[in-house]
Parts: sequence; C-alpha cells; structure tokens
Amino acid sequence: MTFVVGLTGGIGSGKSAVAELFVQRGAALVDTDAIAHQLTGPHGDAIAPLRDAFGDAFITHDGALDRARMRAHAFAEPTARARLEALLHPLIRTRAREAVDRSAAPYVVLAVPLLIESGDWNTRCDRVLVVDCPVELQRERVRARSALPEQEIDRIIAAQASREARLAVADDVIDNAGARMALAPQVDVLHARYMKLAEREKPASAL
Ligand code: ADP
Repeated sequence: MTFVVGLTGGIGSGKSAVAELFVQRGAALVDTDAIAHQLTGPHGDAIAPLRDAFGDAFITHDGALDRARMRAHAFAEPTARARLEALLHPLIRTRAREAVDRSAAPYVVLAVPLLIESGDWNTRCDRVLVVDCPVELQRERVRARSALPEQEIDRIIAAQASREARLAVADDVIDNAGARMALAPQVDVLHARYMKLAEREKPASAL
C-alpha cells in the first residue's frame, strides 16, 4: 500500500506552492483539481455523462464543460450542484485511486481542496496535512492571482470549511502566513517524517 498524505487548505492558502516543494523532494503528486479539469476538459471522460445529465447547452464547441455556465447554474440551483458532484466525484475518486496505485514514489501527496468538506477522502489518507494562513491573506493571494470578483472569492471561502475545522482534523500543519521562503524548511521536516512513516508501512515482501 502506498503511503498517502492528504494535502488540503482553503483557496489561496498555498497548497500548490507546498505541493511543488514535496515533488522537488521526490514525492509523487496526485492532484484532484487537475483530475477534475482533465475529466471536464475537451473530450474528457465526464463530458458524455455531463451532456446526458445537463444537455448540450453546458458543453462548449470544443467538447469541454462550459465552466462559467455550469458555475452560474449550480449557484442558482442547489440541486444542480448536487447532481454535478454526484456525477463527478466518483470519477475523480477512481482516477485518483488509480494514480496513487500506479505511483512508484516513496509516498504520494494527494491534493484535495475539499478534503475536510467531502467526507470520505480522509479514509484514503494515512495523514492529513493542512496548509494554514489567515483568511485575509487567502483573499489577498487569490485577488493577486486571478480576476475573480470579490463577491465570488467571499462565496468560495464561505462555502469551504472554516480554518478552525481544518486545523481540528490536521495531523500536520504548514504555516503559510509568512514569506514563501518559510515553506521549504517546514516541508523538509515533514518530508523526513513521511519518508520514515512510509518505510514503516511497507509490507514485508517489499523490503
Ligand atoms: P492554493 O493552491 O491553496 O489555492 P497557491 O499555492 O496557488 O494556493 O497560492 C495562492 C497564491 O498565493 C499563488 O499566486 C501563490 O504564488 C501565492 N503564494 C503562496 N504562498 C505565498 C507566500 N507565502 N507569500 C506570498 N505569496 C504566496
């Protein structure tokens, strides 16, 4: 069994920055956001079931999910969001599991933005790692990164678990309230810990 570290944190907390540092140290990254994008991108495997469920209007000319349209629809119509999630989540989960099982790295960092919110993810994780920073910094970083309207940023943050709820389930925490430079030493400590834990988890036949 591959040792799996579930990496989570609010939007703009610094998950991608942290994930990159783990990859540089030899961990494999399985990113559920990237999987979701592939599935819903041009001719992705979710496109046919999405077309069946929501109709042609939600599929662009190049065969991708029309994200803006779907976002507006799901916002206005909570049952649409539930249907979308019921369709996508099992596909994402299967792909993530396949990618974890294929990995030959000493351990896998499984990036799941909504790990806390969507129930059973953490059952697949040997450890939960939370990237933490104050909400105001999250806002600032998202603002600097994207053209999302302020209201949309607030809505996303409000829909995510609170900082406290995330910290309550964390096995490990990376503090990203400081400079980017402060991340690497924290990742070094955790990488050493995960290498040890992964070694201990290996079945006897693999030793
Ligand atoms: P997430 O993946 O959690 O949404 P990112 O890693 O993409 O977050 O970080 C959000 C934005 O903030 C990015 O533009 C990133 O470059 C920037 N960022 C991350 N950590 C820091 C930091 N410590 N100081 C300044 N900017 C940061």
